[in-house]
Amino acid sequence: MGYEVPLQVKNLSFAYDKQDVLHQVEGDFYQGTFYGIAGPNGSGKSTWLKLMAGLNNCPHNRIHIFGQDIHKMPRMTLAKKISFVPQMFNMKYAFTVEEVIMMGRYPYTNRMTNITQEDYDKVEKTLFETNLMSLRNRHVNELSGGELQRVVIARAIAQDTDIILLDEPISHLDVHYQFEIIALLKEICRNQNKIVISVLHDLNITMNHCDHIFLMKEGRIIKQGEPLKILTEENIDEVYNLKVNMLINHDKKWITW
Ligand code: ADP
Ligand code: MG
Repeated sequence: MGYEVPLQVKNLSFAYDKQDVLHQVEGDFYQGTFYGIAGPNGSGKSTWLKLMAGLNNCPHNRIHIFGQDIHKMPRMTLAKKISFVPQMFNMKYAFTVEEVIMMGRYPYTNRMTNITQEDYDKVEKTLFETNLMSLRNRHVNELSGGELQRVVIARAIAQDTDIILLDEPISHLDVHYQFEIIALLKEICRNQNKIVISVLHDLNITMNHCDHIFLMKEGRIIKQGEPLKILTEENIDEVYNLKVNMLINHDKKWITW
């Protein structure tokens, strides 16, 4: 079957038990583009990401990847297309950085029973790209929050998917690590032609770094498009119920309250 849009979400509604959480969500996603999803707590951002990642049971005919309905895709096939960086990452056991990144290879290794040279090469390349060579033998439960986040993103990169989904990857990080993670995401998006979709809370980061954003409220997409056009004082008031000021300094805009 042919396709025009690499990742397409059409008329997606979703409920947990009886509570409706998403209403007619739509989006077209293209390679080499960095997408942001913003909106108040409880607006359905994580639910949407989990549906795209195949973690919530997706209704029929609503999400297509390269023309295929994800509802019908076997889990391991989907895992070769989409990787997911969850909001909370807990490791019970003291795996090393290198071992955690190797876990990203699970769709290719028959549940890690058949690791090949290609898998080792991919992990090596990823360690290098994500600047984790010096930490490769450290235990992940001894890392700082920013280092750990880099490892979890590296695991997703090693999974070698066209689409990477991230749920608030920088929310707990200091400004240095925030910068580092955003720079890394932009780089893999541009250099490896990936579709990167991230839930982000910081509107200034979203405005200055994303190519396209979705602004959500109560399970609906209120606006979507170019960040500078979407993150207006009016739209922010509508979605967050907050009066903000937009400062303009040369070509940069800044939201303050
Ligand atoms: P966000 O990520 O924007 O904060 P969520 O997608 O986590 O929003 O949640 C949207 C709504 O769905 C909330 O009302 C939340 O309580 C509810 N919800 C989230 N996960 C579940 C779940 N596993 N079971 C039932 N309700 C859930
Ligand atoms: Mg969430």
